[in-house]
Amino acid sequence: MKRSRIIEILSSGKPGDQFTVMGWVRTRRDSKGGFSFIEVNDGSCLSCIQIIADGKLKNYEDQILKLATGCSVKAVGILAASPGKGQNVELHAEEFEVLGWADPGSYPLQKKRHSFEFLREIAHLRPRTNTFGAVARIRNSISYAIHTFFQKRGFIYIHTPIITGSDCEGAGEMFKVTTFDLDQIPKKEGHTDFNKDFFGNPATLTVSGQLEAEVYALSMGDVYTFGPTFRAENSNTSRHLSEFWMVEPEMAFCDLEGNISIAVEFLKFIFDYILSNCNEDMEFFKKFIDKTVIETLENLISQDFEVLTYTDGIKLLEKANVKFEFPVNWGTDLQSEHERYLCENVFKKPIVLIDYPKEIKAFYMKLNSDGKTVRAMDVLVPKIGEIIGGSQREDDYNTLVERIREMNLDPDDYWWYLDLRKYGSVPHSGFGLGFERLIQFVTGMANIRDVIPFPRTPGNVRF
Ligand code: ATP
Ligand code: MN
Repeated sequence: MKRSRIIEILSSGKPGDQFTVMGWVRTRRDSKGGFSFIEVNDGSCLSCIQIIADGKLKNYEDQILKLATGCSVKAVGILAASPGKGQNVELHAEEFEVLGWADPGSYPLQKKRHSFEFLREIAHLRPRTNTFGAVARIRNSISYAIHTFFQKRGFIYIHTPIITGSDCEGAGEMFKVTTFDLDQIPKKEGHTDFNKDFFGNPATLTVSGQLEAEVYALSMGDVYTFGPTFRAENSNTSRHLSEFWMVEPEMAFCDLEGNISIAVEFLKFIFDYILSNCNEDMEFFKKFIDKTVIETLENLISQDFEVLTYTDGIKLLEKANVKFEFPVNWGTDLQSEHERYLCENVFKKPIVLIDYPKEIKAFYMKLNSDGKTVRAMDVLVPKIGEIIGGSQREDDYNTLVERIREMNLDPDDYWWYLDLRKYGSVPHSGFGLGFERLIQFVTGMANIRDVIPFPRTPGNVRF
């Protein structure tokens, strides 16, 4: 089945050329002159191609006049300049075939605009809409840009494991992996007997590829992982998913300042790539989702990001003349309302907040000489809040053991991670970028459930 994609026909087709188009009908309009206009989309771009089906086609009465939204079709025809408004070219069909019918009485996607809530219920059909088609293409383009950025800079792509035996950052947030019959879990002295489980040990889905990425950074230099991560936290917000994708670069011989530079350069590269390559879809988001998306990205590319310490950030929040839902004082974790206030009201641009209190950050972040704060960095952006979390890693063996104990963790569980500090330790840094939050920021989509094909959230894994 040879076909041309609509994006190729619209961008480089010449009038007089013959093309075969295959796709799904968006609309059919019949002219009094005894022919029909059929708008077909194939997902390759936002635009449809207009197909002119002449009354003389042999299946015109029987089939073409019955076409409805959602039917799949094949048309072979000649491209011609279009006299009508809204398109430059149209395809004059010489042959027209219906590949699959879609009963208008039951097909859930009709011409009218559906709510995103409704469309989440039909995640198997929503990519046929303009919005979800555009999101899917932007998601694809950002993925490509991410790999391009790192590959151009000599980073090596590492595939860190999905199933982990290490209980990294708080077991409460982790999904368990087991083949036990949950009605008959083997017990030993009152506790689950993991010796009898598939791996012979407790296993979980990864919450981050960082620790394994560090292993490779401390042998390959600059590396990154880009894969799915899983968090069983019960956060029903518009920026949390139970399954989301994370981009995690990890750099040896790199301190916090180097880490910040790479994070900022990285974000700017992505934004520039999207503005240069996804014009049609970005114009769509600007028109229908958020008027400011394009100018926001443009401004970001030319601006410096504000770097300030957590301590200074807290001072600004304490001075703020607004009522926050959650109170702030030195030592508390920032909520998204605080992050957004700093970005949107104080600095009016993205900020990088550094040197957080050690109590609210992970054990592996490098301790500052004050003994109270760690070399953490969160990149905060308007509308979303935290988009990147990262740090310089603790590279001193003794300090790391102490920090593990302080967090009530068992150093024995981290024996291999500690080995990296015992044998050839080097200063190193890295960060994690939430891929879906980045897509939200780029597209202006308000809910994270609408930027991943099949969202998983507490209470929801239907598809
Ligand atoms: P938050 O405080 O917003 O819940 P976090 O501090 O727990 O995030 P990190 O562990 O630092 O997140 O993860 C790195 C990045 O992954 C975050 O900056 C964010 O962009 C993204 N992220 C974290 N949790 C989620 C989630 N549940 N769904 C989608 N993205 C997430
Ligand atoms: Mn974080």
